[in-house]
Amino acid sequence: SVQLVWFRNDLRTLDHSALSAAAAKGPVVGIHLACRRQWRSHDHGANKISFLHRGVVALQKELAALDIPLLYADIHDFAAAPKALLDAARRCDAEALHFNREYPLDERVRDEKVADAFEQAGISSFSYADHIAFEPGELLTGQDEYYKVFTPFAKAWHQRIDADQLALRDTPRRQTRLDIASDPIPELPEPDRSDIVSTSSSRVEDEPWPAGQEAAADRLSHFLKQRARRYDNDRDFPAVAGTSELSAYLSAGMISYRQCLQAVMANNGGHLADGDAGLASWTNELVWREFYQHIAVGFPRVCRRRPFKLETEKLNWRYSDKDFEAWCEGRTGYPLVDAAMRQLVATGWMHNRLRMVTAMFLSKHLLLDWRRGESFFMQQLVDGDFASNNGGWQWAASTGTDAAPYFRIFNPTTQSQRFDPDARFIARWLPELADLPAKHRHQPSPEQRHQTGYPAPIVDHRRARERALEAFKNLS
Ligand code: FAD
Repeated sequence: SVQLVWFRNDLRTLDHSALSAAAAKGPVVGIHLACRRQWRSHDHGANKISFLHRGVVALQKELAALDIPLLYADIHDFAAAPKALLDAARRCDAEALHFNREYPLDERVRDEKVADAFEQAGISSFSYADHIAFEPGELLTGQDEYYKVFTPFAKAWHQRIDADQLALRDTPRRQTRLDIASDPIPELPEPDRSDIVSTSSSRVEDEPWPAGQEAAADRLSHFLKQRARRYDNDRDFPAVAGTSELSAYLSAGMISYRQCLQAVMANNGGHLADGDAGLASWTNELVWREFYQHIAVGFPRVCRRRPFKLETEKLNWRYSDKDFEAWCEGRTGYPLVDAAMRQLVATGWMHNRLRMVTAMFLSKHLLLDWRRGESFFMQQLVDGDFASNNGGWQWAASTGTDAAPYFRIFNPTTQSQRFDPDARFIARWLPELADLPAKHRHQPSPEQRHQTGYPAPIVDHRRARERALEAFKNLS
């Protein structure tokens, strides 16, 4: 009898734990619930919502090739999920519901309510580990606690990872056609459309972030052929297209971590941590992704807009809309920060080095509450992922899991000289500075600022640093 598979942030048919398990039991019907009001309350912006929507359209086609229908409902928020799923289960006379587990708090509460509702209705429901290799709680310290620091977590991850966790799940075979039709997927309402431009310079694409598992597989193979072996050298330089740009695909589940790591091993003599330095370093980033998912479960306060380090709750953040807007709009007078913010707003993506630089600038130099920045990032990012975004922000603001003390404060000018040595990235995103000699683009003189219309720095680095140190010092 029919098995209902609920697709959420796992919009693919390949290597999909729930789909694979369901198909082994009987014919499958898929369902997707669009929860746009809930997503908006989680700060998902137009870029992300459009990407997910296009991903669902692609998924419906991928499923159709297997004769699996995809049902669709707009339910606004998570609270309506149990009823919508039960209605669907009854409509297709399903024997059971199957879905892959998600880890942020609201998602876990939603899934518990769904499982309860199915139990009460006498219909089975099954959830599966799929998004990460270890379930939160499976990798603990010697004291049976969640890891609070990345390096020992990564060490334990590498020691314990085994072939089962990396094995690709079976793709279902084409099934006998059911007497159930797919639902039409409505067009996105106008405000959810976006004009995003991809940062991938090497290919011409009709869609800036083409959605779906095929597009994800193309990116992975392009990365492996063109970028992976230089990844450890190139990954910190925003002017170089050196990273995979797979984050949006991983967070929407158009590709799985297993597919990525299998590809690493296939290109690296079966190794993850050893062998090619580029591939080993890339694997490490996927472990970071997993680390933050564990943090979201181990320390659920981070899902309630609270800091990981509780003592930082007392921090006296400044409040200035003017400074916040200057940061959002790329008008701080620090060229690398401004170039990065303009990249984010124009493309829905920002290079990792620059996410760190801009987040630290907001929370340390401007001493503005990191949560404002976290929300703004989420509203812009096509790859917005609660655990990684929150983890990255708290790391930068020294309220999170960073092992380094709060007095590590990046100097945005020296970061610029070091990681954008020819100021090519700055020239690309701040055209007003493009004609200055490269070395002046990092820190234009007052006269050059006057001539180009580029603003004066909104804070003095040294004084801002002292102000931040003072604020953090007073906490203990
Ligand atoms: P690659 O360098 O090719 O890395 C491969 C994959 O590893 C990425 O696609 C991503 O899934 C994962 N990854 C890489 N770095 C990290 C990291 N530091 N933490 C967690 N996972 C990582 N990543 C998101 O996916 N969504 C977010 O919303 C997000 N917000 C961030 C906010 C801040 C303030 C910071 C500092 C980092 C954030 N990151 C986020 C992590 C990282 O910046 C992006 O994953 C990365 O830039 C994506 O580019 P890529 O796919 O080319 O990465």
